[in-house]
Amino acid sequence: MNPANYLKIKNKIPSNVNILAVSKGFQSQDIKTIHNIGQNDFGESKFQEAFEKQLILKDLQSISWHFIGRIQSNKIRKIIQNFKYIHSVDSIEKLHRISNISCEEKKNPLIMLQVKFSDDPTKGGFDPELLKLKWREIQELKNITITGLMTINPKGLNSNANLVLFKKCRSLADSLHLPDCSMGMSMDWEEAIDAGSTWLRLGSLVFGSRS
Ligand SMILES: *Cc1c(COP(=O)(O)O)cnc(C)c1O
Repeated sequence: MNPANYLKIKNKIPSNVNILAVSKGFQSQDIKTIHNIGQNDFGESKFQEAFEKQLILKDLQSISWHFIGRIQSNKIRKIIQNFKYIHSVDSIEKLHRISNISCEEKKNPLIMLQVKFSDDPTKGGFDPELLKLKWREIQELKNITITGLMTINPKGLNSNANLVLFKKCRSLADSLHLPDCSMGMSMDWEEAIDAGSTWLRLGSLVFGSRS
């Protein structure tokens, strides 16, 4: 892991776009190294792996943890207790459960709703039309703050196809008056910036390749 990679990418990104350093598969020591040079937001996709690192790093109060993985129903309470942001809420049922448990826990997680703009059977996510239909109902849910939408493009698209899908996400977020779009990973971050991403989720570009 080479901290120069992080600084290099940081310098290329406009200051209104946030970097979420995706630390899944990397050690707490790697997180510390990047944190020491100014990165505060870290993303993890598996609860147990994340929780172990959170315990080791608990004295680093300025770290904000983001959950970006598939949400198992039996982990919702723990996710709410230990993460400030949840990027990967992919169904209305889970959103209801998150709201109910957040009330019990007196928490108010910041949430991005995962939306699917292409037919990718390997990914979860709201159908955009369904999300629009349910939007009123969603806005009444207590103890959650929806700040935006999140999307993951299918692998292997060319640059223009990535841009088209990201623009759909930005445009839906705008129509719902949501400021955030969590989109763009190590392979497609440039298109995501062009389309109006506010959170790039960068793993290998920041930390190096996962072993
Ligand atoms: C792993 C992961 C990333 C980061 O992937 P890289 O290609 O390493 O940048 C981003 N978002 C999600 C949801 C992930 O699971």
